[in-house]
Amino acid sequence: MENHQEEVLPERIVEEKNETLRPISSGAEKWLYRKIKCLDHGFVILKDYMGNDESIIQAARVSYGKGTKKVSEDTGLIRYLRRHLHTTPSEMVEFKFHCKMPIFVARQWIRHRTASVNEYSGRYSEMKNEFYLPDQEVLRGQSQTNKQGRGDDLTPAGKDRAIKLWNDGYDRAFATYEELLGDEIGLAKELARIGLPLSTYTEWYWKIDLHNLMHFLALRLDSHAQHEIQVFGQAMARIIKDAVPISYKAFEDYTLTAMRLSGPEIKFIRMLTADSNMNREGVEKNILERLGNKREAEEFLSKLEKLGFFQD
Ligand SMILES: Cc1cc2nc3c(=O)[nH]c(=O)nc-3n(C[C@H](O)[C@H](O)[C@H](O)COP(=O)(O)OP(=O)(O)OC[C@H]3O[C@@H](n4cnc5c(N)ncnc54)[C@H](O)[C@@H]3O)c2cc1C
Repeated sequence: MENHQEEVLPERIVEEKNETLRPISSGAEKWLYRKIKCLDHGFVILKDYMGNDESIIQAARVSYGKGTKKVSEDTGLIRYLRRHLHTTPSEMVEFKFHCKMPIFVARQWIRHRTASVNEYSGRYSEMKNEFYLPDQEVLRGQSQTNKQGRGDDLTPAGKDRAIKLWNDGYDRAFATYEELLGDEIGLAKELARIGLPLSTYTEWYWKIDLHNLMHFLALRLDSHAQHEIQVFGQAMARIIKDAVPISYKAFEDYTLTAMRLSGPEIKFIRMLTADSNMNREGVEKNILERLGNKREAEEFLSKLEKLGFFQD
């Protein structure tokens, strides 16, 4: 029981130990009802799951006939399926999470349309006095190269001022909310909430299949995603790494740590390997001329760095 300290388990789960024919994942069992804290007041909890790595094999066997039996062959099949984006077998595995996150994170998250969601209702229940206050180390200025990103560190005075402004704003916003709800005005909850900031926490149940969860993770674990949603992606990744270890390793190898090369990029790499004299400066200029787009050129340069070019 020590793994489940954070949340009280439903009596049914504690008291009944039914035999089941359902495929069990020991890695997922370990995470059930265990809270992973995210940001200052948020969390991710695995509430339920369906299937494991074997369920993917089982589904694939329908299309491949009797199929393989050995563990090594099963691993190979899962890796083959992921490598070639034969993805429907991985839709047979599902995860149901209880998550709590600031509303601005929820707005990015909800864009992933393939999940089933049921959210806390600010019309029905009062909102809590809980707002996201970023840690000092993530307070950075506007990036000069990426309009959607963060750049250099703020000064300590700038950080202190930002925290103070947020805190003052949160206090004011919540006091207004309470006054609007109070006896004197008596406004409905659905209207009183509209002045609360995007940093207000919300909660939901979020159920998604493994394939679409991996799609979510590929986008939201990426360094281009906002730090705050990455934190939630990392929590879910930790869980599914244990729940479906073979599938997760394949996802890591063929998606997370892999890269895609465009036609012009491949042509350029061929040219680079043929001309060992080309230095970094020459390459930078040449790439920009060929690709014509500064951002695309920068992205290609970082791919070349990953591939081990310019290690001098
Ligand atoms: C770094 C980053 C920056 C972003 N910036 C912005 C932004 O500035 N503005 C903004 O509005 N959004 C932004 N987004 C959101 C982004 O455009 C997608 O809406 C979001 O990532 C969900 O992706 P998805 O549609 O592939 O996922 P899902 O909704 O989970 O869909 C999964 C897949 O199912 C298919 N699918 C689902 N629904 C449909 C449908 N109705 N029609 C056709 N195919 C469908 C598609 O193949 C899709 O890829 C950003 C996302 C990221 C990661």
